[in-house]
Formats: sequence, C-alpha cells, structure tokens
Amino acid sequence: MNGSALDTPMMRQFIKLKAQYPNAVLFYRMGDFYEMFLDDAELVAPILDIALTSRNKGKPDAVPMCGVPVHAADAHIKRLAELGHHIAICEQVEDPKETGGKRLVRREVVEVVTPGLVGDPEGLDGRTVVAVAAVYYDRSSNRFGLAVLDASTSDFRATAVPAEASALALDSPASSIPDALLQELARVSPRELLLPSDRVEAWSEPLLEILDEVAVTSLDESTFLKLDRLRLERSTADGLAEGGGDWPGEFMQENDPGSRAAVAVANYLIENQPFAAANPPRLRRYEIADTVVLDASTRRHLELHQNSEDRGRAGTLIQELDETCCALGARRLSQWLSYPLLSVTAIAARQDAVELLVERDRMRARLRDAMTRVRDLERLLAKATRPGAVPRDLGALRSSLQALPDVATAALGGPGGGSETSELLAAPPSEATTLVAPDPLPELSRLLERALIDDPPTIAKGSRGAHETGYIREGYRSDLDSLRESATKGREWIAGLEAEERERTGISTLKVRFHPVHGYSLEVGKGHLAKVPEEYERKQTLASVERFTTERLREVESKVMGANERAAKLEREIFESVRVAACEASDEIREAADRVATLDALASLAEVARRKRWVRPVVDDSETLEIKEGRHPVVESVLRRQGSDGFVPNDAKLDPAGQQILLLTGPNMSGKSTYLRQVALIVLMAQMGSFVPAASARVGMVDRVFTRVGASDRLAKGESTFMVEMRETADILRQASRRSLVILDEIGRGTSTFDGLSIAWAVAEYLHDTKGVEARTLFATHYHELVALADSKARIHNAHFEVREWNDEVIFLRRLVEGGANRSYGIQVARLAGLPAPVLERARSILLDLEGGELPGGQGKPLRGANDGQLMLALRPPRSAKGEAETECIEALKALDPDAMTPIDALTWLVKSRAGLLAVGDEGDGA
Ligand code: ADP
Ligand code: MG
Repeated sequence: MNGSALDTPMMRQFIKLKAQYPNAVLFYRMGDFYEMFLDDAELVAPILDIALTSRNKGKPDAVPMCGVPVHAADAHIKRLAELGHHIAICEQVEDPKETGGKRLVRREVVEVVTPGLVGDPEGLDGRTVVAVAAVYYDRSSNRFGLAVLDASTSDFRATAVPAEASALALDSPASSIPDALLQELARVSPRELLLPSDRVEAWSEPLLEILDEVAVTSLDESTFLKLDRLRLERSTADGLAEGGGDWPGEFMQENDPGSRAAVAVANYLIENQPFAAANPPRLRRYEIADTVVLDASTRRHLELHQNSEDRGRAGTLIQELDETCCALGARRLSQWLSYPLLSVTAIAARQDAVELLVERDRMRARLRDAMTRVRDLERLLAKATRPGAVPRDLGALRSSLQALPDVATAALGGPGGGSETSELLAAPPSEATTLVAPDPLPELSRLLERALIDDPPTIAKGSRGAHETGYIREGYRSDLDSLRESATKGREWIAGLEAEERERTGISTLKVRFHPVHGYSLEVGKGHLAKVPEEYERKQTLASVERFTTERLREVESKVMGANERAAKLEREIFESVRVAACEASDEIREAADRVATLDALASLAEVARRKRWVRPVVDDSETLEIKEGRHPVVESVLRRQGSDGFVPNDAKLDPAGQQILLLTGPNMSGKSTYLRQVALIVLMAQMGSFVPAASARVGMVDRVFTRVGASDRLAKGESTFMVEMRETADILRQASRRSLVILDEIGRGTSTFDGLSIAWAVAEYLHDTKGVEARTLFATHYHELVALADSKARIHNAHFEVREWNDEVIFLRRLVEGGANRSYGIQVARLAGLPAPVLERARSILLDLEGGELPGGQGKPLRGANDGQLMLALRPPRSAKGEAETECIEALKALDPDAMTPIDALTWLVKSRAGLLAVGDEGDGA
C-alpha cells in the first residue's frame, strides 16, 4: 500500500479542485467543517488565528491542514476577503448517505468569494456598499468606461468619460486615466478593481493613489468582450421560466467602454457566483456630468461621509441628515449626498416631496413606521436567492414584503384614522405624484405566507440534507399533509403501545423508547424478563434492561420513518420552488425596494428639516448664492448637544458679477473655517434636495465645489503638506468655472510667510482676472496683507469676524462684518490656549518691536514696509536689486499658466524662484 498522505482519494479530489482555483484559498467541506490543506492552510492559519495541524502528523509526508466550523465560517471568509484573498467555497454536493459510505462524496466549488464579491450579505452593515468596479479604455471612441456593482444589493451601473489630452503628451491616451474617472472611482470607492491585464501596470499607480484599500484583479482583455458565456448561463439557469430578457446583451452598446466594463463585471460575477445568472443585476447608465463634481479632497475637507479624525461617521454631514428607517433608505440618502443634482426640475421634485412630508407629521410618522418593517429588502433578496438560502431567509423576505402595502398606503396618504381626514382634505389632488409608492407584490407575499410557517427556522448552512423539517405550513400541500398524517398516526399508535403492552404482559415498568440510531424499542427491566411474550424480538442488551421489538412495531416504525423522510424531501422541494418564485420576482422586488429607498431618504430629510427647523432653499439656474442667517449643521448640533443655543447665524452672498470673491481675514478661532464649510454644505444640501439650516437661501446651481482647507493629513503618503496643498490649488485653478464654488482656507500656510502670501495673492488675482474662471469664491486667510486686494479688484470684497478686546482678552462674537480685520490677536489666542505667561510676555515685546519696524533683540534693522504694522514688502514697488528680483518673480508668477503646469513643474518653479530671491536678499524670509 502506498502510504503517502497525498495519495488518498480525498487528497486527490482536493488537489484536482484546487488546480481549478490556483489563486484562491480552497475551503474544502468535510461534514461540519471547512478544511484547508497544504499552502492554503499555512497561509490562513496565522491570519485567522486558528491551529495549524497536519494529516499524517510527524511523518515526513505530513500534510498541513487547518479548519473552521461551518457555522462560524462566514466571519473567517469575510476577513480573508477583506485582506484581498479569494476564497473558493467547496461543498459536498451529494448526501453522504447516497454513497452508502462506499465512495467519496462528490464535491464542487459553488462560489468564489472575492474582496469585491462578498458572498453571503449576512452581517454586512446596512450602510456599507461593497462594490467591485471595472475600468476599460476604448480606443475607437477614445473614452474610458467604468462599471460598478454591489452584488449584495444588485446595484449595477456604468458610465463613460472622454480621455484627457495628457499633460505629458508623450503618453498615449490609454495610459493616463482622466481626472474625472479617478475622482469618480474615489467616490465609488470599490473594494476590488478589475483591470485589463495589459493595462494593470500603467494604471495601477494613479488608481492606488486615489483608492486607499482596493484589491486589483487583472483580467484577460477577452473578459471585457465576451457575451456568450453570460447568455448561456442565463438561459440554463436552473428552475427558471422563460424570459428575463437578453441579459446582458440588453446593455451592450457599440464602441461603448461603459458596456465593456459592465461585461467584465458581469462575467466576473457569473464566474464567481454562477447562481447569480438566475436573477442577474440590471445595468443602469449614468453620466458623471449630470451631478455635482465632488473630488476626493473636497469630500474629505467637508467631512461629508467620513470625519477627518478616524474616518468614522461622528461629526459628518451624513450623520446629521440620516434619520432613515431602513438600510435601503440609508444607502440611498448617502448616494444622494455623493451625487448632488444639477437639474432644477429634479431638485424641485425632491424638494416638493420633502416639503409635503415636512407638512404632514402624521403621514410621515405612519410612513416611517411602515418602512422600519421593510428592513434591508435588497440584501434579504440577495440572501434568499442564493442556493444556500434557509427557510429563515425567505421568512425575512416575507416580513419585508408584508410591510409594503402599509408603505404604499401611507405614501398615497391613505387611511390612518383619527384626525387624519383633515390632513387629507388639505392635500392637493396632485400630491400622489410627489411620492411614488412601491407596488406590493401580493402574489409572492401570499405564496410565502401560505407556504412557510410563522417563524421559519435556520438550518445549518449548507446542510441541505439535514433532517430539520416542519417549516412548510400545514394545509399548503395535501401530499405533504398526508405524509405527515400517516407519520403522526404511526407515532400515535406507538404512543399508545406502552399502555397496551403493559396491560397485555403485566410488566408495569415496560417502556417504549426511541433512539435516533436504533429506533423504537420496548424496554423491559431484567427482573421481568420471564414475563416477556414469545413474539418479542431481542434488539439490544444493556446492563439492567433488555430492549425488544415486534413485527408490528417494526412495520409501523418503518412507515413513520419513511413518511418522515419523504416529508423532509418534499419540504425541501417545496422550499426550492418557493425560492425560485422569489428569484423570478426579483426584478419587481428590486423595483419596490428602489421606491422604498427613495421614500425613506425623502422622509429622513423631512424628519430632520422638521426637527431642526430648516427651510426649503430656492435652487435655480442663476449665478447667485444668497444665504440669510445660515448655520453650520454639524457645529450647531454639537453645540446644541453641549446644551448651548449659541451658534451665531451668518449671511452669505456671492455672485460672479458683483461680490465674486469674499476675503475673510481675522484671528484664529474667530470662525472662518466654520463659515466656509457652512456655505459649501448648504449648497450641497440644497442640490441634493434637502432643506437647509438658514432663514432663507437662494442657490444658483453650482456645478463643482472645490475646497482647499487647512493642513492636510496626507503626510503618511510621503507627500509634504505644501506639495499636496499646491497640487490641490493647481487643480482648482485648472478646472474651476464660473459655475463653481471655490473654498480656500488658509492656502499658502504650508510654506514660509512670503511664499505663502505671494501664492495666496496670485491665486486670488487669477480667480478674479481670468475669463471663464470667475468662480464664486470664499477665501479665508491669516495674511492681512491680502485685504489690499479689494482696492484694486472690483469683485473682491473684505469681511471679517467681529472680535472684542476686553482686559487683554479676546471675545469672539462669531459675527461676520464687512471690511478687513485689523489685528490678528495671535498672542491673545495663544493665551487662551494656555501658553505660559513668560512666553506670552516675551511674544508681546517681540510684537511691539516688529510693529515698530525693528527685528527683535534690538538689532535695529528696519523691516521694509513694516511701519503700517503689516509686512507689505513683497507687494511694494521695488528699488533695490532685491526689490527688482522680487518684482521679476511676481511678474513671472503672474505670467504663469497653471493650466499647462504639472504639480512638479509648479514646485520646481517655486523652489527656483525662492532660491533666486534668497540669493539677492540680505535677510532671508524667515519672518
Ligand atoms: P478659524 O477658522 O477662524 O480659526 P473656526 O471656524 O475653526 O475658526 O472656529 C473655531 C471655533 O469656533 C469652532 O470650533 C466652533 O466651535 C466655534 N464657532 C465657529 N463659528 C461659530 C458660530 N457661527 N457660532 C458659534 N460658534 C462658532
Ligand atoms: Mg480655520
């Protein structure tokens, strides 16, 4: 006999399966465990923190192995996928009983879980989107395509963007990914990215830079082109009736890179989750240009979805807006915030619905109540349509479907009782069109009600041969009922047997026993053996008792067992047919889920608007931005939670023809950054259809929000703050339009004063002077010198936050007033922050020196231009050689064409110019 541990039937089966999935960890099902062998075992044991053992332990041919119990496997699988692994789930596809124990059970890989296709959606946070995306470049149309799928919700969409004329014209268009696509990918934030294998090298770097944690999967180019396999799978998907459309042919368009990317995603899906062919996700096309462009840094700076501290939800706008009742609505609302609209009519439609719900407290309450019961319909559907679905999954789907009629009734303003009628009478007849009610799917609902018991059980995952029965409701199928009845009759007869036999034999302690392996028996104590009748057949001898059976008992027993088994099989068949019915209704279920998602998002906006007394903004195609008594939604909430009503509202007014740039000066802590963000948030909220925290607001549509706020936290990526800052600023100057909103908070802070000041100055001028770039701009700066800009630039206006001095302390009034600030109060702020008194004292005296035009320490060297208390030197008409160098530098700066520069060019220029200045200078720029 060959003793090698690898040369057993089982290991041969394993090795054969593994060969088909060389890049995946193979979870090999053995009874109640998934086992991993060889390299797989050595790879995962430390990751999952499970014991590594081996078959043939201690022998030279020992096979490393480890395992996880099936009931706990899901968490392990998800963990591995999160770390970028692929996991092939290999199940026993026949009942071990069927083999009679004579040969190995057949096994097949039923699914491959990947970082972007997480498999069983159980346990996923309802707000989390788990997406796999594909990118494709189409030469003939010179466009890039993007497709994104969340398989757990079947949200599947595709778009295309034109290739950019590359800044480095040497490259072919294919090798440089357009900025719009990068920004869109950052917004989508997929867990897994599918790229054509021949592009992986060229594309990975920019993509990985913008996507923090993404697993790149390289696919053969043909995967982006092939439809045959998909068609085939679709048409042979088991148990499915005809129809369902020509998926995915229905979404193929000629020369469309979006379609190509979608085909790759679809192929990848079917490859890894073959069962998905039975209810394939429907593709939706979208245009990035239909929505406000929000680049990664803007979303980060404004803390829309993640805070900058720990990337959590605390302190974000979404947390402030999210009062949704079910996961469907939570995801929808989050998406609305990611994609604010650009169409006045689309925005007005959302606003109308929100307004309706704001005004009808009772209707909103009833609607929200019903929606709470809908739960995560999309993922419940995904779970229920997986082949491993258990009765409980269909039960959960059922209860969500059962809530739909109430949602529909509430959305249509239907009966509720009480004083509801007056509310209804007040409603204009057209309002039914404002809210779109879901279609309740009564047939499927009724089928699930009739077929399944009230509280259907979970059967251990994958154990489809398990013996759990009884989840199909009585009265649903007569054949099942009669099987059950005969089983019951038999059991009843057996139940009566004890009394009968005691009486007949006179053995008062005789018992009827049941044993899962040995079945039924009549148990007699050793002391009574003499009384045992002849026809009793000895079955089992134990220490103090003997067990018997009779011919009749054997007959009845086998009838009962047979009926049970057949009933269990029948139940599984019925369950399967019900599951297929749910699969077939998946398009309708998704449609209903889609409507509930929208209703929930609308109701959430209404709930928040009502609670916080927000108002409906006017959103139009004008270029004006006018906010009266605006508040920062998050900061106001934080203050309120601290028990303060102290948020000070402020107005804002911007338009490219009049007050295009508002320059905010003033000390740290006075409220500049808060104000800047507040204005941007109000604009985004308005364009997503929300009400806004203000007394009134008019928002002329903004096509893109740019922000450059504060010091950046990207140091970890090895870039200097200044470099990041300049790169972001360059992007703004290159891409801003008259329709944009630009938020600049302390730009130039990352470098020395004069460099920073000059850059800030030049940027403001550029935004003011360049045709087509006159974006509405809020510009906060601690460089007081910039105040002078307003003198020469008609559309630049100054404002500052009011500050009072009292006993050498500053009091921040947080009120915005016209004109520039005159002092920075830095020392007072430092004192507030708790700097020690001697340091403050010394700082004060240095400040006095500086203001008097002296360098500290009485070196007596006058600072040019310092007599007005400001450092104006760089901006004065020059006399000296140094002055000339400075003028030259400024002229050169003005003449720059940032459009044509890469960030590296910009930085090189800066470094060179600065060196030039320092070379002729006599005192450096260390001010
Ligand atoms: P700056 O950018 O001028 O340094 P911030 O905007 O960071 O100032 O504001 C500093 C603090 O002042 C914030 O943390 C906030 O709590 C508070 N604050 C800002 N604006 C207001 C306001 N309008 N009403 C009340 N408190 C405010
Ligand atoms: Mg600030």
